[in-house]
Amino acid sequence: MSTFNKYIWETHGVHAGTENDHVKHGVDELEAVIEKAISLHHPSISFIIHTPRLTNFRYDTERDTDIKFIRGNSAYLNYPKRIKQLQAVYADRINIKYGIELEWMGNEIGLQWNRSQLIQAEEVDFVVGSVHFSREGIPYDGSKEEAQRLLQLRGSLEAYWLGYLDEVIEMIECSGDMFQVVGHLDLPKLNVPVPKDILQFENAASPLADKMRWLLELISIHNLALDVNLAGLKKGCGIYPAENILRRAKQLHISIAIGTDAHHIDHYAYAYQEGMQYVLECGYKQYVSFSKLIPETRTIFNNHQLKLKYSLLNKAIELLNQRMPPEKRRVIPELAFGNAFHEFLDIYPNATRLGAYNAIRIRKEDKSITFGNEIPQPENLQLEGLFSKHLDRPGVLSMLFNTLASERINIETAFLKSNNDGTATHQ
Ligand SMILES: [Zn+2]
Ligand SMILES: [Zn+2]
Repeated sequence: MSTFNKYIWETHGVHAGTENDHVKHGVDELEAVIEKAISLHHPSISFIIHTPRLTNFRYDTERDTDIKFIRGNSAYLNYPKRIKQLQAVYADRINIKYGIELEWMGNEIGLQWNRSQLIQAEEVDFVVGSVHFSREGIPYDGSKEEAQRLLQLRGSLEAYWLGYLDEVIEMIECSGDMFQVVGHLDLPKLNVPVPKDILQFENAASPLADKMRWLLELISIHNLALDVNLAGLKKGCGIYPAENILRRAKQLHISIAIGTDAHHIDHYAYAYQEGMQYVLECGYKQYVSFSKLIPETRTIFNNHQLKLKYSLLNKAIELLNQRMPPEKRRVIPELAFGNAFHEFLDIYPNATRLGAYNAIRIRKEDKSITFGNEIPQPENLQLEGLFSKHLDRPGVLSMLFNTLASERINIETAFLKSNNDGTATHQ
């Protein structure tokens, strides 16, 4: 029986605070939470920040303020710089990732606004697209009173949820290329009951069930990941999204990202084990995290061999992506797995076999890369290629490949062997 990892590479992780803003939100003391992660021996920590909102999208608690840009406009502008400083300070101790939570506010000025917010968010690792507000400007995740107000306005529970699902669908159709992950998919359950047609949407015949099914298909078509958001546990409505939604997502080969959506240092790393148990029960054994918008696949299990294989797969995808123009980086590559990587054949249903060869091959269009974890030793082995001995550090191999590529030398196959003394040989 496999045990779970102690750590999750979060996506929707710790919310960076609004600092000096009028409305407090998130964790201001980023250093404190980083130190906590280091003390827990975590390899990485992930921050996220909300994009500032347009004036007519406000929570009741924000109505009294007369500031124009709600929630941390200056904190938002500062955020990439602040994270970069922290990355420099903690470079040798922990890997700091960061992203933004893009606030959907309709497809007119809201969409223009979001585009400008994205431009300001330099070099983020991921973008989560979330609907928190109805088009009427009333939040789904505010107070119970706010939810009741919207319920009255829309006239029924069905209309309430239909409106929400329409907004999520609109967000994906209009801006699915602007984010990688759909945030807390069944957020309204925080404040209102879930209708029967959503609890059993798989088989129900109703506009609500149809819409839920279509939404999941749309997520799959756009190659977006689902945010498995553990904050719902703390709030008493259960993890987002509900089990039946996640099971259907698995059938549609939708990948998941996991996160605590923590707004307080005490909530850092909350319920990691429950999170992994939950996704496993829904059929998932792996999840993704993001680095510079590219998904990296990870196992939920504490299995050293499997983790090594995943890191090889991620490295191969990253190296191939570096040779692709940015717009092609999110295209799912064709994968082929040989002998030692056979478990990936179950995980990636469209992958092909590489036979007895212990290697992974990744292909996009006319570019491919083959990665193995051992040097083949057939009789009279004749290897043609380059040989290098270098520091065994992340990034060194990419540097070598890029330098060679700039000289128009294409590496089809690379053998990398760690010497266990801080160096690696590479052939
Ligand atoms: Zn959110
Ligand atoms: Zn959030």
